Amino acid sequence: MSANDVQVLIRQHLIDPEVCIRCNTCEETCPIDAITHDDRNYVVDPAICNGCNACVPPCPTGSIDHWRMIPKVAAYSVADQLTWDELPAQQDIPEESLATAVIEAAPQHNAAVSATSLIAPHSAEKPQLNLFDIRHPVIATVTGNYRLTDAQAESDVRHIVLDFGNQIFPVLEGQSIGVIPPGTDASGKPHYLRMYSVASARDGERAGYNNLALTVKRVLLEEEGKQIKGVASNYLCDLQKGDKVQVTGPFGDRFLMPNHSGSNLLMICTGTGAAPMRAMTEYRRRLQMHSKPVDGKLMLFFGARSPAELPYFGPLRKLPASFIEQHLAFSRVDGEPRVYVQDKLREAYKSVTELLLGDTYIYICGLKGMEAGVMEALSDMCRAANLDWAHMHARMVAEGRFHVETY
Ligand code: NAP
Repeated sequence: MSANDVQVLIRQHLIDPEVCIRCNTCEETCPIDAITHDDRNYVVDPAICNGCNACVPPCPTGSIDHWRMIPKVAAYSVADQLTWDELPAQQDIPEESLATAVIEAAPQHNAAVSATSLIAPHSAEKPQLNLFDIRHPVIATVTGNYRLTDAQAESDVRHIVLDFGNQIFPVLEGQSIGVIPPGTDASGKPHYLRMYSVASARDGERAGYNNLALTVKRVLLEEEGKQIKGVASNYLCDLQKGDKVQVTGPFGDRFLMPNHSGSNLLMICTGTGAAPMRAMTEYRRRLQMHSKPVDGKLMLFFGARSPAELPYFGPLRKLPASFIEQHLAFSRVDGEPRVYVQDKLREAYKSVTELLLGDTYIYICGLKGMEAGVMEALSDMCRAANLDWAHMHARMVAEGRFHVETY
């Protein structure tokens, strides 16, 4: 660079690989697809990022909120960032360079984007966040590990109970925790943590105990004729009573339930996406058991391949219709047509649209593909009932009454 060239500096947006929990929230939130990932790191492409900050508030860990002043020509590339185990330090920029440099300003926060960011219900309990991180995890003890799917069912879904003893680890329904599998990956690096939704109520899997439950499906994949075992899910599903587990979190400050009596919950889920729904249902059940006011209606749409594959099928069937209205959708039952949750929603369109007109909170959790189908069904049903779903949806989002967690 000649003395006459003006140096252009940028404030480069980076993600801390040591703290990031790979939850994909940032990539999903970014309105211009500037965030990408491989099987280790989530990274921001400096050629695309416009600094709109839309991804910052939704990040459950704060790992997204890192910035380095750097000459534009030397910006860290996507390829560089994918190799990182930790963030580089801020480079020294000589005062004389700073005095003459042009600093490319990031555009201001984009209000249109933030308006669509999901927020917590106004009456939600204030969640505790990030009490333990990957450098300082809390150690939990396994006190239970039960298969939830039938012995003959193809999928092995488990209910795993973790006890925190006398360590403080408060969680709310809808929050998640991180689990760090022990050992290292094929390249010798420690495994990154995986997130799981809490499946139990805030006062413990067993009321009054300092424990929580997870709903975990054992992941087994076929690649080029070889069976690949999901690292974290197999680690968790194989745990025995007394085993110790490294846990981080709690995470999540939006997918929370309303605390006020009279609020209706419309819960739509597939497979292990049932974890937060179980937590919310159980919390309401306990309130009712203790004669606390819980006037709101609970409506559940739950999809699985078959009754044998549906987690918590037995316990769910024991809950009375006066407490929770259940619509179960089965996609692979011999001799029967494939039914998805969105089909069940359409069938129940009268009661669903009625519920939508009240003080209702929607929760959608599970397979990514289900989200579009559910949104389409809600839109069609509202049209049939002379309701404007686009307007209603925007209002529910702004009021913290619409929540999605799909993968
Ligand atoms: P799964 O057994 O593969 O699927 C559950 C049901 O959803 C099946 O009946 C399936 O039907 C149906 N389905 C497939 N595509 C659909 C679509 N486009 N619309 C509606 N239904 C559809 O589910 P899973 O393996 O348990 O996965 C659940 C998801 O929840 C995973 O992505 C997981 O990451 C996520 N999740 C898990 C947790 C947790 O804490 N464990 C928390 C939040 C979210 P067919 O396969 O027969 O077509």
